[in-house]
Amino acid sequence: MNFRQVLPLLIAGACSAPADTPAASMLSLPVPAEAVAAIDTATIMRHIRVLSHDSLMGRQPGTAGEDKAVRYIESEYKALGLAPGNTDGTYIQKVPLVGITVKNSPTLTFRKGSTSKALKWRDDYVAWTKRVSPGASLDSSELVFVGYGVEAPEFNWDDFKGVDVAGKTIVVLVNDPPLADTSKFGGPRMTYYGRWTYKYEQGQKHKAAGVLIVHETERAGYPFGVVQGKTAEQFDLITPDRNITRSSVEGWITLDQARSLFTMAGQNFDSLKARAATPEFKPVPLGVTAHLRIENTLRMIDSRNVVAKLEGSDAKLKDEYVVYSAHWDHFGVGEKINGDSIYNGAYDNASGVAGLLNLAKAFKAMKTPPKRSILFVALTAEEQGLLGSQYYAVTPIYPLAKTLANINMDEIVQWGPTKDLTVVGLGNSELDDYARAAADEQGRVLKPDAEPEKGFYYRSDHFNFAKVGVPAFYPEGGIDFIGKPEGFGRKKRDEYTEQDYHKPQDEIKPDWDMTGAVKDLDLFLAMGYRIANAAKFPEWRAGNEFKAIRDKSLTP
Ligand SMILES: [Zn+2]
Repeated sequence: MNFRQVLPLLIAGACSAPADTPAASMLSLPVPAEAVAAIDTATIMRHIRVLSHDSLMGRQPGTAGEDKAVRYIESEYKALGLAPGNTDGTYIQKVPLVGITVKNSPTLTFRKGSTSKALKWRDDYVAWTKRVSPGASLDSSELVFVGYGVEAPEFNWDDFKGVDVAGKTIVVLVNDPPLADTSKFGGPRMTYYGRWTYKYEQGQKHKAAGVLIVHETERAGYPFGVVQGKTAEQFDLITPDRNITRSSVEGWITLDQARSLFTMAGQNFDSLKARAATPEFKPVPLGVTAHLRIENTLRMIDSRNVVAKLEGSDAKLKDEYVVYSAHWDHFGVGEKINGDSIYNGAYDNASGVAGLLNLAKAFKAMKTPPKRSILFVALTAEEQGLLGSQYYAVTPIYPLAKTLANINMDEIVQWGPTKDLTVVGLGNSELDDYARAAADEQGRVLKPDAEPEKGFYYRSDHFNFAKVGVPAFYPEGGIDFIGKPEGFGRKKRDEYTEQDYHKPQDEIKPDWDMTGAVKDLDLFLAMGYRIANAAKFPEWRAGNEFKAIRDKSLTP
């Protein structure tokens, strides 16, 4: 069963009452004090300072910044006395990637009769090819508006209605159809149908020559500046078919350019967008053709996941694993913003790697390791499309059927302690029970994602573990800060998204206080320790889309 077959279930998101939660005794198993004592702000900040320092040049895969980051993480694992995590006796899992850079800043031209409109690279649109080839093009490719481009049989929704768009260029809206009926498409929560990756997968499925997503800041969940970041080198896993079945051209156009395109076609963007939010919608040929010629620079690299292991203390259970993960990569050196071109990625995700290394220190400090083994995986190329975790998921070092859980850290809280912890995908699995028990001990509460419309469950590495059935937990910092005014958390998050997210300005700030991160890491430590000692494997909730995959993988 591949992911697309389970998609309908994913949207269902049915979370029935938990059948048999983990044993109460396990949820309150005391965590060794020496491990808790090993988690502190000094250790966290030391790692963040090193990893986000200008000298690591923004940790882009395939650069000297990667070498420095990988060497640092490996040396920290060694200094802690952790065992190599790869069965070949090293701390490295090579991840073969192809780097594709558009080198000719091409103009995208729309033509209708004798009228033509030139779209400027980067300013008006961004495009690339994922095909491993020296170039790609759109030659008089007819533009067809396909609404949200969604096919969701479980909701009787089909934006294609059997219309053949092979060889054409589809213009598609980002996010899900915004329906009043919240039983469909997850209501306010963005479902996988809303993700840009799904839109390009639809282009591939329908053999479209090109896919152009209309960028709307609110609906995408980030400003066009983030999309412009894709004009730098883009990586992809090297696949046997060299991505030849994907659409030749994938990209985004700005909302302004979409509006003028529809006007050029004699259509009105807003009224067609409104029609796209109805089940009656069917594709609209725009009577305009697209012309584009992309020239690429290609390079093949072996990027690296950095893996360490703490072997379990139980002779039998040590061959079963709990995986902590965090991506070490970021955007390297790129477009200058406010005079700065180094994308330091202090919050995203030097902070998560710092958490991973501090947890490694805590587990290593235990007089008696837990029964099962603990893996610490620093992943590459998350910013390039979750590639390091995708590679681990398809070529796992240890059997997935013996992997109990993944706890993924992508950004740990930097603004002080909170009364709550945000769990993206809360309700998905029994991992929540472990988190809730540990939070209770801290006098804290779990809260669902405050921005479900942004589809965060699909935007970090845990998603690849979930897609192969491993129960995956994705915490984010709380939003209710202790000793801070009402709304402080939301305000800081919005400022971060606007000013720092995927920008050179994501640097350590004077107001950072990692005492909140210590609390969160204590909670993640308790979760992993108890799962690694538990009598049974944690499970997805009944009705959850990933459960079917898991059940199948556990059936001998
Ligand atoms: Zn990240």
